[in-house]
Formats: sequence, structure tokens, C-alpha cells
Amino acid sequence: MKEFGYERPAHPTDALAMIAGVAGARFLGGGTNLVDLMKLGVETPAVLIDVTALPYDFVTDDADGGLRVGSGTRNSDLAAHLAVRRRYPALAQAVLAGASGQLRNMATVGGNLLQRTRCPYFQDVTKPCNKRVPDSGCPARDGEHHNLAILGGSDLCIATNPSDMAVALAAFDAVVFVEEPAGPRAVPIADFYRLPADEPQRETTLEPGALITAVALPALPWAANSRYRKARERASYSFAIGSVAVALDVADGMVRDVRIALGAVAPIPWRAYRAEQSLRGQPATEVAFREAADAELEWAQPLRDNRYKVPLVRNLMVRTLIELVQAS
Ligand SMILES: Cc1cc2nc3c(=O)[nH]c(=O)nc-3n(C[C@H](O)[C@H](O)[C@H](O)COP(=O)(O)OP(=O)(O)OC[C@H]3O[C@@H](n4cnc5c(N)ncnc54)[C@H](O)[C@@H]3O)c2cc1C
Ligand code: SF4
Repeated sequence: MKEFGYERPAHPTDALAMIAGVAGARFLGGGTNLVDLMKLGVETPAVLIDVTALPYDFVTDDADGGLRVGSGTRNSDLAAHLAVRRRYPALAQAVLAGASGQLRNMATVGGNLLQRTRCPYFQDVTKPCNKRVPDSGCPARDGEHHNLAILGGSDLCIATNPSDMAVALAAFDAVVFVEEPAGPRAVPIADFYRLPADEPQRETTLEPGALITAVALPALPWAANSRYRKARERASYSFAIGSVAVALDVADGMVRDVRIALGAVAPIPWRAYRAEQSLRGQPATEVAFREAADAELEWAQPLRDNRYKVPLVRNLMVRTLIELVQAS
């Protein structure tokens, strides 16, 4: 690992001044991803600016009935919070489905949102990778891609976003609050992540040096009827190979409204708008759920070794919707 400096400011203005003043400075949350990437040589920051002393460790009620979560909130605290468990259970379940207890005790909300892909070539500096070194090539397309994207990829990159938490945030239309050099900004999660297109190295719409301060969960009373379901290769301590966050509003056997987001299938948490559209106003039946899943997945472009994700995610969607009808 290369030598690096370390700062731990207590005030956001100091943190922003430090990141603007030192080339190669990076914010540090719990360090559970960034430090691993430093050990691999993928990241080589000159200075780490630890943001865990900033006043961003909170979960509070918003005036509109939603919740506001500070970016420094540890993943374990978020998952254990009573209001999250009661009002947005899919979010608590998604966070608990990630990593291990020890990692969740360290990992922060801000860091979780910006964790990097687990594409094996991205993490191996001896291999080409367009995301790590623009224009160096993408060996994944013809090589190891069994856990890479079936939706939203480009010729240059088919990496998947690894975050479980972000999938639930996408289903709930969360808003991410940031401080950027130009000032504060509220970014709807649908505009937060970028598809790779011809610039896979740019994963978000954030300006360089942006500090995430909080995430808002808008009020959604029927989000209490929500669930996160994750398929993985091992029972614990493993990233998703497919996942789904679903919230369902059902009355008299009809779907009044629905939110569906998919994980581990695309470079961003994938909001299944086509499936949602297909379900609104329809009978809450398995037939309708299968048609909705097909409406989304007919756009999938699987490769040689990740075709299994299409039936996997279809079944996750259908099964979770059925469970939510039974729970209503
Ligand atoms: C073995 C293992 C298994 C895992 N399994 C899963 C899993 O199944 N599901 C899952 O979702 N995750 C999993 N993770 C990932 C884990 O959830 C992330 O490493 C963690 O959430 C990152 O949070 P952090 O605070 O440690 O981020 P850091 O590592 O500190 O930072 C990550 C990135 O965020 C930036 N950053 C941090 N805070 C801010 C801020 N406030 N503003 C702007 N930028 C910021 C950093 O500069 C860095 O680029 C796993 C990790 C490990 C090591
Ligand atoms: S899929 Fe993306 S991250 Fe993986 S090797 Fe290709 S360019 Fe790199």
C-alpha cells in the first residue's frame, strides 16, 4: 500500500475545504471498501478525509412524514432503527442481507452508496478494465461475467452495482443530499447513478469532491408492506447474484400501486418501471405478476454465463409479490 495522509475534521466546511485543497484526497467512511481497494492498488489516495466525526449520524422524522438518514449512520444502526423496520421494512432487510455484522457495524450509508463494483477485472490491476483505466478494454464480456449485468450495460462495461441498500432506496424513491463545490444539491436516486454508456469510469452524477450528507425517504404509508429478497451463492457474507425490493399496495384483490427495484442485474440499482406499469390496476394474481416480470425482462441482454439471471430474477419478483399479497 502507498503512503497516505489522514485527517478527521469535525465540521463539514473543513472537510469540503480539505478535499478541494489536496489533489488526490478522498473521503473515508467506514473504510470497508476504500481501504480494501487501496490494498489491491486500485485506489491510491494521497490523503484520506475521515467523515465519521461529522454531524451526520442520525435517523430523524421529516415534516412530510418521511425519514431522514444521515450519511454517517452505520449500516447496523440503520437496519435496527424501529422506524425503518416498521415503515420501510425492505430497507432494513436489504441492509441486513449485506456483508457481515462486523462490516455493517463499520460501514456507513454514504460509503455504501458509493461502494465500487465487484467485477473481478476491476479489482485486479494486472488486467485491463475500461472502468479503472479508460479505453484499456473490457475482458469481462468474453471472460468471467457470470455475476455481471443483463440490463443497462454497454459495449464498454457490464459491471453490476453491488449495493443491497441502494436497491431498496431506489424502490422508495429516496433523495440523496450532497454538498458540492457549487453548493448543496438534492439528487433523486433515479438521477444519482449513471449507466456506463461510453464513460464507464463515471458511476454517478456527483461533482468531484461531493460530500454526501443525508438520504431522505419520502413518506409512503404502504411501504410498510415491502420486502427485500436476495439470491446469493452462499447463505451469508456474499454479494447478490439477483435481488428485488418490492412495495405493494393492494385492495380488494387489485394492485393499487407498486414499486419494484432489482439488484445485481445492472450497473445501477434497476427500477423496474415497465413491470410496475404493467401491474397498476391489474388483479393481484400470479399470472399478472409473471406478465409484469416478463415485461421488464424482455429487455435483458444476457451473455453466455449469466443467462440464469433472467429466470432467477423473474422468480424473485413473482415470489415476493405473492408473499406481499398474502401479508396484506
Ligand atoms: C467481505 C465483504 C462482503 C460484503 N458484502 C456486501 C453485500 O452483500 N451487500 C452490500 O451491499 N455490500 C456488501 N459489502 C460492502 C459494504 O457494504 C461496503 O463496503 C460498505 O457499505 C461501504 O461503506 P463504508 O462506509 O465502509 O465506505 P468506505 O469504504 O469508507 O467508502 C466507500 C466510498 O464512498 C466514499 N464515501 C464514503 N463516505 C462518503 C460521504 N459521506 N460522501 C462522499 N463520499 C463518501 C469513499 O470516498 C469511497 O469512495 C461487503 C464488503 C465486504 C468487505
Ligand atoms: S465489466 Fe466494467 S468493471 Fe468489469 S472489466 Fe469490463 S469495464 Fe471493467
